[in-house]
Amino acid sequence: MDSTRRFHFCSSDGFKLTSVMTQWSFSLTAAFGFLVSLTKSSCTQDRALQFLISFNKKPEECKEMNPMKVCSVRLNDGHLMPMLGLGTSAPSKVPKSKVEEAVKTAIDVGYRHIDSAYLYQNEEEIGRAIWKKIADGTVKREDIFYTTKVWGTFFRPELVRTSLDTSLRKLGLSYVNLYLIHFPVALKPGEEFIPKDKDGEVIFDTVDLCATWEAMEKCKDLGLTKSIGVSNFNRRHLERILNKPGLKYKPVCNQVECHPYLNQRKLLEFCKSKDIILTAYAALGTDFRKEWVNKNCPVLLKDPVLNAIAAKHGRTPAQVALRFQLQRGLVALVKSFNEKRIWENYQVFDFQLTPEDMESLDGLNKNIRYFPDEFVNHPDYPFFDEN
Ligand code: NAP
Repeated sequence: MDSTRRFHFCSSDGFKLTSVMTQWSFSLTAAFGFLVSLTKSSCTQDRALQFLISFNKKPEECKEMNPMKVCSVRLNDGHLMPMLGLGTSAPSKVPKSKVEEAVKTAIDVGYRHIDSAYLYQNEEEIGRAIWKKIADGTVKREDIFYTTKVWGTFFRPELVRTSLDTSLRKLGLSYVNLYLIHFPVALKPGEEFIPKDKDGEVIFDTVDLCATWEAMEKCKDLGLTKSIGVSNFNRRHLERILNKPGLKYKPVCNQVECHPYLNQRKLLEFCKSKDIILTAYAALGTDFRKEWVNKNCPVLLKDPVLNAIAAKHGRTPAQVALRFQLQRGLVALVKSFNEKRIWENYQVFDFQLTPEDMESLDGLNKNIRYFPDEFVNHPDYPFFDEN
């Protein structure tokens, strides 16, 4: 029997992640994982990953190995983006100190991609965590892929950089790796995240998204961000940017809600056709304690099909939900502030779902949105008053 298994996380248009493992390295995975969980030593998971992946590689190839390269996709501007990212948005009642601990743990475990936003109000804590991990020698700045987002109250072109400068100051960084338009909805500038009038109606702003995008392009040109992209955009929003006369940079990615109950198949196909990476948030079905979440939706991680597939592979439903996205060529974000689950969620590179598993998971689609999108599709929103 051939002792080598080759994992190609390879979709039709060439998002590629290949790792090579021997049959017996599967049992070593478990043994090594057990050791990692016992010792919890700094950066052990990095070494575990490198150890497993480098198993069938010649020494000179191994020299180039690092988790950033191994588990990353190439963006349309040439930069690399790790396929698994730590989410950092938590219900407002969760103390901010938790995110600092979570980011430090995640970096120790091997995560190199951290997702945040101006809106989350946690960038000081994340910055502290990153700097502590740089100071103790676990990582260098260039090992980390950090994302922030511009909120709708900063969509006027002159404010796009202001928001990024604020994030950078809080983080103590000179650049971010990815700067996203958080929502395709401009809101009246000011202190309030969701400005409302005396009748409780949201106050929108009349900013053309293309003007916001040009300001994003300037941030990239200034070196304040390596890449620029969008979030919560539908096909129409994306086309608006892609068809903009004089477009300098395409969005590298579109970060959207995506999980087996909302597989975003059509948007994924469209994004792939434009060389735009789709990034999945709420990949585990989010946290029902969050303010904006629709509490009437079924709980994804309790789904019987997902649980059956997980049991078959000796994995958890969360690991299967994440692996599902990776095998479809998506980048997946996952939030946990719990040490055990941060580690668990990272163990998704050493098993493979079968085509039948993938089909069953794809069949769970119910177009369920945990985050309602009425806001984006609000009839009053001026973006839709196009001539
Ligand atoms: P998520 O990652 O799908 O789920 C987070 C929830 O799952 C938390 O309650 C977490 O609890 C729990 N969890 C984590 N690992 C688990 C495991 N192995 N088993 C069981 N439960 C587990 O949801 P999300 O935070 O909404 O989305 C992820 C990230 O995407 C966010 O943090 C944020 O960075 C980003 N996001 C972006 C947007 C946007 O508009 N662009 C919107 C939403 C989210 P514990 O912490 O206790 O483990």
